[in-house]
Amino acid sequence: MRVKLARDILKANDQLANGLRRRLTSHGVLGVNLIGSPGSGKTTLLERTIERLEGLRVAVIEGDIATALDAERIERTGAPAVQINTEGACHLDANMVIDAASELDLAVLDFLFIENVGNLVCPAAWDLGEDVKVVVSSVAEGDEKPRKYPAVFQKAAACVLSKVDLLPHVDFDIERFRADAALLNPDLTVLPVSAREGTGVAEWVAWLKDRLTAKRQRR
Ligand code: MG
Ligand code: ZN
Repeated sequence: MRVKLARDILKANDQLANGLRRRLTSHGVLGVNLIGSPGSGKTTLLERTIERLEGLRVAVIEGDIATALDAERIERTGAPAVQINTEGACHLDANMVIDAASELDLAVLDFLFIENVGNLVCPAAWDLGEDVKVVVSSVAEGDEKPRKYPAVFQKAAACVLSKVDLLPHVDFDIERFRADAALLNPDLTVLPVSAREGTGVAEWVAWLKDRLTAKRQRR
């Protein structure tokens, strides 16, 4: 019997992820891994983001346990989308993303968004070859998310605090959220957004464009 340790599996995953990251870099593409709970607003954020990135070339890899509903929503914006169905697995891994990316022409892209399976826990541990992880956390989920799910906030470069149009209707202490997030990760950029009303979308898109520019300057 051969016992495969979780850390060996993660190591193999990281090697695959590094290979994809090198390919993205050679094409000047920024890879963004969106992580958040089910219902945090990841797909809606992507729809608004793609509209705002008009003129730039965007593709999306959608991770879900089942259905192609999110990829269908993305395709309605005009951006190419590839749906991964994990059939039960609660996170994407680099192998799945590489397989999905083979359906896309990376050479013509500026941004590759990967919407992870809705889950705040294990997606934080899996490198998908992205340049940045972004955690999407909605005000409807409560302000204790950084304290309860620290890993994803530590690893993310930005946090989109989504659904801020709901703030008058929920008990959510935005200063507490910011302070807890900063304690875990002083470099985390917190971006309050309402994809529904459009608030903060411009700032989020500016952040993305800055990251793309910075990446291309480093090449
Ligand atoms: Mg979704
Ligand atoms: Zn998982």
